[in-house]
Amino acid sequence: MKVYVEAYGCTQNYGEARLMQEALLRSGHRITTEEADADAHVLVTCTVVETTERKMARRMAELAAYEKPFVVAGCMAAAQRDRIQSIVPRAKLLPPRKWPQIVELLGAGTACGDRAAEIESTSFGWRDAIVPIAQGCAGRCTYCITRVARGRVASYPIDAIVAEVRRHVERGVREIKLTGQDTGAYGLDAGTNLAALLRAVDAIPGEFRVRVGMADPLTVHPIQDDLVDAYASEKVFKFLHLPVQSGDDGILEAMRRQYTVSEFEEIVRTFRRAYPDITLSTDVIVGFPGESEEQFEASMELIRRVRPDIVNVTRFSPREGTPAATMPGQIVGWKVKDRSRRLTRLRFQISRDGNERFVGREVEVLVTEPGKPGTVLARTREYRQVVLREPATIGEFLRVKIDGARATDLSGHVLTNELYTPVQIHAGSPVV
Ligand code: SF4
Repeated sequence: MKVYVEAYGCTQNYGEARLMQEALLRSGHRITTEEADADAHVLVTCTVVETTERKMARRMAELAAYEKPFVVAGCMAAAQRDRIQSIVPRAKLLPPRKWPQIVELLGAGTACGDRAAEIESTSFGWRDAIVPIAQGCAGRCTYCITRVARGRVASYPIDAIVAEVRRHVERGVREIKLTGQDTGAYGLDAGTNLAALLRAVDAIPGEFRVRVGMADPLTVHPIQDDLVDAYASEKVFKFLHLPVQSGDDGILEAMRRQYTVSEFEEIVRTFRRAYPDITLSTDVIVGFPGESEEQFEASMELIRRVRPDIVNVTRFSPREGTPAATMPGQIVGWKVKDRSRRLTRLRFQISRDGNERFVGREVEVLVTEPGKPGTVLARTREYRQVVLREPATIGEFLRVKIDGARATDLSGHVLTNELYTPVQIHAGSPVV
């Protein structure tokens, strides 16, 4: 069968969608990027906020209209089974933890073996590797539907993760993204931790870089020193995605985040002491039920004080089945929007100022993907994005000089010295 797979949501969901495609290829199916051309459809859903859920519902109805075998996978298949069944009653449901069963759901085709799968998976144009390290999280957040969808922490064994990373490195991938709902929770169910995993990955021979996905302050705080040590590896991007969600302890308590603002700041200080240029990314929810103007101001003040490089601003959206959906003090839409705008404005000012300090520096980058026509995109050791207007090969390490900064990225030019002679391949063409 020619199978069409469409995914939404976080890196983990995309990673699982890729794994499903590889599994389907291994069992003899083909993958198509044309939905009208497919013999079967798979929608890998996300339900993090209400607008996403509405989009998923629309796509379900559109894909079901082809009247071909249809699988709804991803988080909605665990958290909103009834909703799916009311929209597309004949769809088969595949919750996140059960993704390997995609092959059984669609029925095996004519097996052509692993080699065909390997060749096809490299031709999809994936230049990075997404490696899920665990399912679920250790939290009890009152607003989060993901907890319903993904459940408690279940870590994949270190050996299995190392073997997966090695497989990607051996086929030439240079950027490895370790993902999970909370990478800091890795190993809580298995007597190990994220630092141990990073050390094991660091021991894999080869030139590659690892980006560690979102890690909650709750789970990072107890292992911060160990983690800072493990980050010393050349292979680990100095990038920390540490979602604080609010700058007010009262709101954090109502969210049941189980850490304080000062614990968050302590983690940031610990990492910055070791890696002063580390890229700090955080998330803030605005308009949580009961959030007063002063409590929102506390979030603004925290962002002014900590100056994260990236702030992902989310407007609170009540998710059915979560305690926050029925909490008193729900905030009217216009107020939530206004807070979101104010925080976003501040976030961009801070990002621009932060990036400007890199102008004039010479840094090492890894070329990661094609950019707009005539450009390629690269990442610094701190995972800052650099736009290069010169030909460069995806997967190549270069020395560049930063000559411009915006809120979202840097620009630079390649320093052609004897150590780093760029290979002349045009932007946009090479694929790992
Ligand atoms: S884990 Fe959360 S963000 Fe990721 S796909 Fe599921 S609902 Fe969306």
